[in-house]
Amino acid sequence: MILSLTSNETATREVEIVADASEIDLTASDDGEVRFGHEVTARLTTRRVAEEFFASGLVDTKATLKCARCLAEFEVPLTAPIELVIHRVHAPAAPGADLDAYVEVSSGTSSFDLGPYAREALMLTVPDVPLCREDCSGLCALCGANLNVQTCTCEGSSTDSRWDGLKQASTLKRT
Ligand SMILES: [Zn+2]
Ligand SMILES: [Zn+2]
Repeated sequence: MILSLTSNETATREVEIVADASEIDLTASDDGEVRFGHEVTARLTTRRVAEEFFASGLVDTKATLKCARCLAEFEVPLTAPIELVIHRVHAPAAPGADLDAYVEVSSGTSSFDLGPYAREALMLTVPDVPLCREDCSGLCALCGANLNVQTCTCEGSSTDSRWDGLKQASTLKRT
């Protein structure tokens, strides 16, 4: 996902850069709960002032997530803001461990890889507790039925009796 740094001085440009998710190392989380595979598109406005290149815009893709309640897989669009300043200098500072919004590259550099920035921005938008829908009914804690598509005969499954033992245990711990 390469941003060209060859524009004319002070020119503002709209650029669209498309890459495969795998090209920017966006594949799946270690636990397999999040998967990527769609194209990643960055739409940026870039402006050059002397040796500084300003780029800001949005990056988007789609991800497949697993619902935290019913375990069904579902696809969601992800959109993340991306903003950075790339400064061409004679002696660029070594990049730190974190991705900074301000980056120094050596003078004469004609392209910049946005991949790590796009990846990080998109990963930050993945919800911690993905839900296939706001009111997902989840699975019955007793029989495992998907309550979005069927009902079961277990009464009050949301106050699952299996939690009773846990409650007792935590009470014991505190006393
Ligand atoms: Zn669900
Ligand atoms: Zn049930």
